[in-house]
Amino acid sequence: MERSAAGTRLLDCMRRAADAGLSRGSAGNASMRCAAGMWITPSGIEPQVMQATDTVTLDLQGRVLEGTLRPSSEWPMHAAIYREHPDALAIVHCHSRHATALACCGRAIPAFHYMVAVAGGESIRCAPYALFGSTELATHALRALEGRRACLLANHGQLALGATPEAALALAIEVEELAAQYVAALAAGEPRLLDAAQMAAVVARFADYGPGRGDQPVQSGSRSSCDGRIV
Ligand SMILES: [Zn+2]
Repeated sequence: MERSAAGTRLLDCMRRAADAGLSRGSAGNASMRCAAGMWITPSGIEPQVMQATDTVTLDLQGRVLEGTLRPSSEWPMHAAIYREHPDALAIVHCHSRHATALACCGRAIPAFHYMVAVAGGESIRCAPYALFGSTELATHALRALEGRRACLLANHGQLALGATPEAALALAIEVEELAAQYVAALAAGEPRLLDAAQMAAVVARFADYGPGRGDQPVQSGSRSSCDGRIV
């Protein structure tokens, strides 16, 4: 795949994220792993005016290999994830409303609903706050992503990993929906949490899902060639 083709997919992802209400203005970014490192959306450009050719190719140390624009300021977080998560082939980061609201309270999403396991475990963690674009934020995100494919970022937003940009976006949409449901449940009363054994059973059931074996929504756009933990 070439940069322009990757850029078309990343741009489509960013526009779909905006249409789904996941991000506003130039907030949020998306990337795909490539042989040289990664393709990532540019800094400070709204998806409506972004061009596929604005995509920047970086190596995983942040050196610009292709492109004339500045890469997203969150490139250190994307690069750190690609270095540490071999199965992560795409990342979507956004400031979706409910996920960000919980993150601003420093709250993880606990096992209030079985679909929380879609992120890989019994909770969706919230990484501690650090300055956007900093290596400290990347370190915090990596810790929150241990055994997971999505996390919240305190006082900031959320991020989701996938085998494709489409799968990462689908997971980000799911995280936002879960966050909205959790906020509603908190408003309604005290959510009953599933226990560790119940969530382990869900995680195991999800691991058995795949093409032709179920309709788990976040599998959309995933590739069977990436048969690991990241879907
Ligand atoms: Zn951000």
